[in-house]
Amino acid sequence: MRPALRALVIFIALGASGALHAQSGGFLAPGYQPSDADETGLWRLMDRAEEQLKTSRFVVRDPALNAYLHEIVCRLDKAHCADIRIYVVRTPQFNASMAPNGMMEIWTGLLLRCTDEAQLAAIIGHELGHYLRRHSLALWRDARDKASLGNFLGLGLAAAGMGRYGDFANLALVASIYSYSRDNEREADQIGERLLVKAGYAPLAAAEIWDQLIAEYAAGTADRSQSVLFASHPTPEERLVSLREAAEAAKIKNGERGAERYRSALAGVRATIADDELALRQYGRSAQLFERLLAEAPDDGLLWYAKGEVYRLRGEPGDLEHAAEAYARALQASDAPPEIYRSVMRVALKRGDRAGAQTALENYLARVPGADDAGALKMLFDQ
Ligand SMILES: [Zn+2]
Repeated sequence: MRPALRALVIFIALGASGALHAQSGGFLAPGYQPSDADETGLWRLMDRAEEQLKTSRFVVRDPALNAYLHEIVCRLDKAHCADIRIYVVRTPQFNASMAPNGMMEIWTGLLLRCTDEAQLAAIIGHELGHYLRRHSLALWRDARDKASLGNFLGLGLAAAGMGRYGDFANLALVASIYSYSRDNEREADQIGERLLVKAGYAPLAAAEIWDQLIAEYAAGTADRSQSVLFASHPTPEERLVSLREAAEAAKIKNGERGAERYRSALAGVRATIADDELALRQYGRSAQLFERLLAEAPDDGLLWYAKGEVYRLRGEPGDLEHAAEAYARALQASDAPPEIYRSVMRVALKRGDRAGAQTALENYLARVPGADDAGALKMLFDQ
């Protein structure tokens, strides 16, 4: 049994047998600390999860990025922002979660997929909704009463969506995989939308996210029912419709986007999170994703490079030509990563262009002095 499960089972077996408490009607008070036995137990379990998360090699410790995320929380909900701690977790899937003790996780696959700050704020607002209404407490009590760990953890679903980073399974996992009820999700959507509008962001941002995810899944080969997001209720299609209606009801035409600010806040991690996406080898969805992002940022060198990589790695007929075109676009921008020259060299060799390959190799070695793969690349060129 995994440690996380064992801890839960022990907790449930010891289970404070306290009476069920009806959830109070309002929001959690700022600075709230639990007082009754079962809520305290849940918080302490999450505190332990957070201790593990703090030392996890999957947590992204970029101080500028973390400060930026905290600022968004404060902009959405000034009264509670001192109670919330955000952890960016390096996992190439779209997910965010909120633990009852104020620990919020945002996965890098989610950061890669947001177009701008408004979209990210929409997600943070939704997670704050779960926190403010103490949704996990209701779930916890319900699961304990039914001794139904599966409901609380949704383990099968989470394991399926976690890709190659699934091995960070530990207590932190517990916090990532609440499967809330349909009513809880709806309520979190409504609260998130209200916070978004109140903070002056574009009201449509929340609906857009679901629109994007639905399109991405349609382009890929992964089974929707295997995804944590898509297996939950309400369906993404239902959420898209109700969030769009809520945005229209707000009667605000534009609202702030923060696209540039978002891009610069992610500058230190973008190359890594794009690489993590490519490593999944889900080329259909990745191609769709990078094309969508390029439609919003047509001069982004990193995105053109990533698109070229999708083609190069997929290697279907015509892909080498498409890769070369994408690299050429990337090199017109100022922010293509130096690794692009290595890829240009490989594609040129495959196309029989030895002169092009040589120039690319020289460019690569000039830009990455002491590169680990210098010897291997020279051998490849000499073959
Ligand atoms: Zn939710």
